[in-house]
Amino acid sequence: MKEESRSTGDLFTDYPRVYAQIDLDAIRRNVENMKALIAPDTKMIAVIKTDGYGHGAAAIAGELESLPYICGFALATEGEAFALKKAGISGPLLVLGYAFPVHYERMIREKIRITVFRRDTLRELSGAVRALKEKGTERKAIVHIKVDTGMNRIGIKPDAEGLSFVEEAFGTEEIEVEGIFTHFARADEEDKTDAQGQIAAFSRFLEQIRERGFHIPLKHCSNSAGILELPKANMDAVRAGVTMYGLWPSREVRRDRIELTPALSLHSQIVYIKEIEAGEAVSYGGTFVAGEKMRIATIPVGYGDGYSRALSGRGDVLIRGRRAPILGRICMDQFMVDVTGIPQARESDPVTLIGRDGSQEITMEELGERSGRFNYEFACCIGKRVPRLFCRNGRIISVGEPEQDF
Ligand SMILES: *Cc1c(COP(=O)(O)O)cnc(C)c1O
Repeated sequence: MKEESRSTGDLFTDYPRVYAQIDLDAIRRNVENMKALIAPDTKMIAVIKTDGYGHGAAAIAGELESLPYICGFALATEGEAFALKKAGISGPLLVLGYAFPVHYERMIREKIRITVFRRDTLRELSGAVRALKEKGTERKAIVHIKVDTGMNRIGIKPDAEGLSFVEEAFGTEEIEVEGIFTHFARADEEDKTDAQGQIAAFSRFLEQIRERGFHIPLKHCSNSAGILELPKANMDAVRAGVTMYGLWPSREVRRDRIELTPALSLHSQIVYIKEIEAGEAVSYGGTFVAGEKMRIATIPVGYGDGYSRALSGRGDVLIRGRRAPILGRICMDQFMVDVTGIPQARESDPVTLIGRDGSQEITMEELGERSGRFNYEFACCIGKRVPRLFCRNGRIISVGEPEQDF
């Protein structure tokens, strides 16, 4: 990550081919708007797995770390957590998925919260704690117990066997049980019956744990959809993911309760314009054949940048505030659009692949739908080859360049 400060006006000078602009103010506003929806004493865990849904985990964690109600960050893998620690993020980190034993000592040393639901994990963790002690580091393994109330993905069942797992965790001296959580399978649907059932099952299980005299400080349940529509599921904390980035969990969630601003926009420029005659084909496979004389523009971005090949012949880009349809197949590093209807279009004109230009907007949702890919997935897949430019108050404050872009 490079620190810098300059206006957003001249980005093409240094990043001529493509760049993603990440608006940290939008992320902060989205988080504040979500906070306004949840109970005053409910905290928020910011979910920044898959490099912050493709937006850039370290910069976002840095932006949110100082907010008093952010009680930590959630990642999917150990590697993501280690990378954030390395980037200097000190807030508590939770790995939501199964963490592998080979990483336990390092996770314990770095106080990374481990999700547990397998008996052998409890034993492996106590072994790792003892091994660390022998090496001079005295520290407990901090865990969050995962409860499966309907996803059938990971987690203990909220039954007698599950209770005995909780007992074993509390009975393991080397382990500190900090949290317990479950995850909605269908909270983003209009019909909340299934989600309500999950809340009820989780609440009953928590009650049984309490009755046995165990206290777990951080009980959490809600994802973004839950934050928007299920206030009952607030508990001690919520896990905010996709909405932080200004994206919607689904088409079915109500959009009138909260204002969300998409944080990411994707920009390129026209590198070539030419005319083709009726009967000429465009791109691999000749899937598009011009029916008449046309003006077409080449954009130097492709599926190698995560701009899905499934958008072949389906999506649009914005040029001079107008929509220009994609023609033929998206290549690995380039694609063509129709600018016949935009006669003012010139080589070097800015092209907006995601974001606003004048009155037009292309959202991640639109690209997700057109490519059959789902907005979460489209965001996650924006490639490493695309530099992320983080801006605040209209100024670029840092640049994430996972790979040098030539
Ligand atoms: C990804 C994830 C979240 C965040 O989900 P959103 O729909 O993006 O809010 C929360 N909890 C768990 C366990 C997850 O895997």
